[in-house]
Amino acid sequence: MNLQFKSAMDRLKSEIRDIPDFPKPGIVFRDITPLLGNGQLFRLAINVCAERYQRKHIDKIAAIDARGFLFAGALAHVLGVGLVPIRKKGKLPAKTIEASYNLEYGENTLEIHEDAFKPGERIVIFDDVLATGGTAAAAVELVKKLQGDIFEVAFLLELSALKGRNKLAPHPIFSAISY
Ligand code: AMP
Repeated sequence: MNLQFKSAMDRLKSEIRDIPDFPKPGIVFRDITPLLGNGQLFRLAINVCAERYQRKHIDKIAAIDARGFLFAGALAHVLGVGLVPIRKKGKLPAKTIEASYNLEYGENTLEIHEDAFKPGERIVIFDDVLATGGTAAAAVELVKKLQGDIFEVAFLLELSALKGRNKLAPHPIFSAISY
């Protein structure tokens, strides 16, 4: 990691706030709202990701409900590519396919529109946090079912002790910040 990248990542990290025991005892919630509220740092976070995917012929960003949308929308805009929402069950209006998974705190089902992209399109899956990896693994399952070509699974931050990346093998993974 070069020094310039490291100092940019340290600046991003400085605006991520730890909230102990949220949403339940024992969980340290990494709160990204201070980063979102700082225009320069929000732009920096998007630019770091945009630089990574420019000229990589990405067709679409598949964004995970809900905090993934905050970054993926801006990223798709900068790259000039489409955005595919992967949503919690019951939110998407047209025909969907679904995948269920366990969270660090609870259980959930994700859905994607079955016509969200064409088979073979090059997809970056994006979420804010990689924790246990269950959420992203469900998103990977959905994109694979629709025969997307997963270029990378990307996160603003990764909680590396939880080893979530093991659930995403063999797909390449990028996290801008690691804890
Ligand atoms: P997981 O499926 O365990 O990788 O959980 C990832 C999802 O849960 C992401 O969409 C995060 O938004 C959220 N999440 C899980 N754990 C945390 C945490 N400690 N701090 C912030 N967000 C979290």
